[in-house]
Amino acid sequence: MPTEFTDYDPSLGNKFVFVTGGVMSGLGKGITAASTGRLLADAGFDVTAVKIDPYLNVDAGTMNPYQHGEVYVLKDGGEVDLDLGSYERFLDIDMTFDHNVTTGKAYRHVIERERAGDYLGDTVQIIPHVTDDIKRRIREAAEGHDVCLVEVGGTVGDIEGMPYLEALRQFAHEEADEDILFAHVTLVPYSKNGEQKTKPTQHSVKELRSIGLQPDIVIGRCADRLEPRTREKIALFCDVPVEAVFSNPDVEDIYRVPLMVEDEGLDEYVMAELDLASRALPADDRADGWREIVTRETTATVEVALVGKYALEDAYLSIHEALKHAGFETNTDVEVLWVDADEMDDAHADRLRRADGVIVPGGFGARGARGKIDAVEYAREYDVPFLGLCLGFQMAVVEVARNVCGLEDAHSAEMQADTPHPVIDILPEQYEVEEMGGTMRLGAHETAIEAGTLANDVYGDTACTERHRHRYEVNPEYLDRLEAAGLVFSGRADNRMEILELPDHPFFLGTQFHPEFRSRPGRASPPFLALVESVLAERAADTGEVTA
Ligand code: GLN
Repeated sequence: MPTEFTDYDPSLGNKFVFVTGGVMSGLGKGITAASTGRLLADAGFDVTAVKIDPYLNVDAGTMNPYQHGEVYVLKDGGEVDLDLGSYERFLDIDMTFDHNVTTGKAYRHVIERERAGDYLGDTVQIIPHVTDDIKRRIREAAEGHDVCLVEVGGTVGDIEGMPYLEALRQFAHEEADEDILFAHVTLVPYSKNGEQKTKPTQHSVKELRSIGLQPDIVIGRCADRLEPRTREKIALFCDVPVEAVFSNPDVEDIYRVPLMVEDEGLDEYVMAELDLASRALPADDRADGWREIVTRETTATVEVALVGKYALEDAYLSIHEALKHAGFETNTDVEVLWVDADEMDDAHADRLRRADGVIVPGGFGARGARGKIDAVEYAREYDVPFLGLCLGFQMAVVEVARNVCGLEDAHSAEMQADTPHPVIDILPEQYEVEEMGGTMRLGAHETAIEAGTLANDVYGDTACTERHRHRYEVNPEYLDRLEAAGLVFSGRADNRMEILELPDHPFFLGTQFHPEFRSRPGRASPPFLALVESVLAERAADTGEVTA
């Protein structure tokens, strides 16, 4: 996080698209913005993004995935909102922690400066001190890029969002008109008699205007495209040209949103308004890899059980996305079967047994540990392709310790502090750590991979750099016993165990890191791709036997 206060250099010449949300949250403004960004990138521009989260947490690290979905981890170890994952996937970029602006960060910095005496003599206030800090953060994150998408989390009218909207108003005031665009993403619901209703949109734009912001573009989220009459009404009441009102209908897959944005002409409109059209690549020369990737025909379906504790797709979003990416690359439809590790009733157990592959994802705390260990045992015993991620890797170690090494009470010290066999134990550097926020082993670290192993095959390399987020690791005291039981630690970082595998199994791989965060459409994460490929290979071998 930059700590120095720098004055903005207007000669940088970035363009900014500010995206606000109206009526309610959860309209997918992040995906809409990221999709528009994808098209600008295809037109030859260097695009980056900033996500503003108007909460008082400094970062997302201490938040429960039930409220905001998964905590996404950046390469520099920033623990951030999952929308940053969408930007990384859609724009195919690696972002840094300072691309997530939170109220906690801005206030903390301003208060620290006040204590340091930086504002001696001044009354320190939201305007100008906090708003200046917000503007500085946006400008610094945009530096060196052609276009910066700035998404304001929450909904216009939220008290929490006020300092940000005021900062954006000032920002627009300070910049040239052609460098700034305000896009408002809003809900257009249907009435009982099937009419598209614009009143909620009118109200939220009125709210925006009362704080001095006039949207340049209105994007209506609706089950279908907006009817001409709806667009005209929005144009009239929100004071935008009718060409600036765009539809954002539901699509079956978020990866198709860029195709829809293109079809609507939103990208061209944005480029024209930002005075970028003359610098854009001619339509025929633009990259169209995205369309090719996301519109592939699928020839097979694979079902993967996800054995976790949150019955909420967003809580494991990057895993779902990584599986989709693996699907794109193998022309496979990968379906995720949700298995509740905490309450594995018959229906959940049936889904586990039906699945072609099993993933035990990351997590914290003891709840669901039993179910996760049972799922590992099932996959190991029945030769079902298995991928364990972070906590899933650790639970695989516990399972092997208990059921193969015969250490009956083996556990992770996280789940049971007094276990006689802490096969997973706290990282030595965590002994002294007192604060909870941002103190885990975080971010990208290199792992050395042993030649001739499954991991070597999966990564096609003798090293990988993946993102981490953990406090516990394999206890080296148990290494000999685990290895004697057949576990191979094929990836290590110094004396840390980073990857495990079982050679006598069709596909059994665990990673202490989270490979899902680096997966991209067109470049699926190797462990996920390998999991899906192993299922397809098993299937081909089975049908081969039948026809032979
Ligand atoms: N709770 C475990 C640890 O802290 C695993 C963390 C995770 O799965 N991200 O090591």
